[in-house]
Amino acid sequence: MQAVQELEPIVRIRDLKKDSVNFTLENVDLGLANSFRRVMMADLPTVAIDMVEVETNTSVLPDEFISHRLGMIPLVSANCDEGMRYTRDCTCLSWCQYCAVELVLNVACNLDDTTMDVTSSHLDVVLPAPGSIGWNDEGDGGEELSKRAENFGHPVGKDDPSVPPILICKLRKGQEIKLRCIAKKGIAKEHAKWSPCSAVGFEYDPYNKLRHTSHWFESDERAEWPVSENAREEEPPRDDVPFDFNARPNKFYMEVETDGSLGPQEVVMKGLQELQTKLANLILGLKSEPELDAHQGGEQALPATNGTAGGSGWGAGAGAGAGAGAGGWSATSPSRAGAGWSSPTGGAAGWGSPARGGGWAGTAWSGTSPTTGGGGTSPSSGNAGPAGWGSPQAGGSGWGGTTANGWS
Ligand SMILES: [Zn+2]
Repeated sequence: MQAVQELEPIVRIRDLKKDSVNFTLENVDLGLANSFRRVMMADLPTVAIDMVEVETNTSVLPDEFISHRLGMIPLVSANCDEGMRYTRDCTCLSWCQYCAVELVLNVACNLDDTTMDVTSSHLDVVLPAPGSIGWNDEGDGGEELSKRAENFGHPVGKDDPSVPPILICKLRKGQEIKLRCIAKKGIAKEHAKWSPCSAVGFEYDPYNKLRHTSHWFESDERAEWPVSENAREEEPPRDDVPFDFNARPNKFYMEVETDGSLGPQEVVMKGLQELQTKLANLILGLKSEPELDAHQGGEQALPATNGTAGGSGWGAGAGAGAGAGAGGWSATSPSRAGAGWSSPTGGAAGWGSPARGGGWAGTAWSGTSPTTGGGGTSPSSGNAGPAGWGSPQAGGSGWGGTTANGWS
């Protein structure tokens, strides 16, 4: 276990396609691999139709039925986290060009004896005109708009003959649909329509050496449960080796498939950034409370975390922290010698792998990342050197790293 903690995480891409990526993730904990999976599925913002105003609907489907189908259509959302605001953060009242994309669907069937398919290709993006409903006069929003691609908000695969359009409903002669949609930014934790992923899965321990799975079988377990492709990357179990009940999974075979709203590369990179930001916020939350208490009257509301100076916090005795100065999570006072996660004065401290260079950086991802030049996304990642998940500089540190002031 100790050995696992000291190794740096390794990402190796095995296959990258237009809408899927297959990679291995090594030297991380099972919990981190699973958090990564969940973040990619549920926490990355995309654009999806959120409001529908029906003007005419003489099709056989009720308005709600069509509205729901419209919401589920994937829209091109590349760089959505920077190119668009949440309406709750916007200065407008309900929607505007900075926090919404307007689409219209206006189709009528005039064909004799033919059923017409209304598909996602019939949806057209409408650019708001100055002064119209949904126009925000605020001056400084141009920065967001410039970060959007030309086809931002368009249905995925529109104008691409190789991608079959998504059927919305069918019309007979004389039937008509005319409606207006407002697409907004959101995450799949709120509604699954905002998920950029159609499938994310990972496997570990294909030979089931760890016995995390109980296989039901009739006569021969190995014959009845053939191993997966991933087993080729691992050593087969030997019958003469006793079961190691201390062993932990260390290598994860991940497969990410997107619905086209975001590319697989963006999903993985933004997923890592989002996970990093979440952890940074956790640290921030842990840090601020004792500080707040101290300000409110000097009482030490959390005696357990206010141990003797030097070592402290969260069970970390002197020297138990990552670096030389030692300190646990909560050496919050700036005057202390040791450094916790976020000390402004600290020496070596924090997350980083002890006495090492980069965390995640360096290897596989940096080769394919077009944009990520370094720098974590955490707003508070401070001056941690050339840090960042996708940093091509090998010397840079990953998680805030070993240079001073990891997260503060
Ligand atoms: Zn707005």
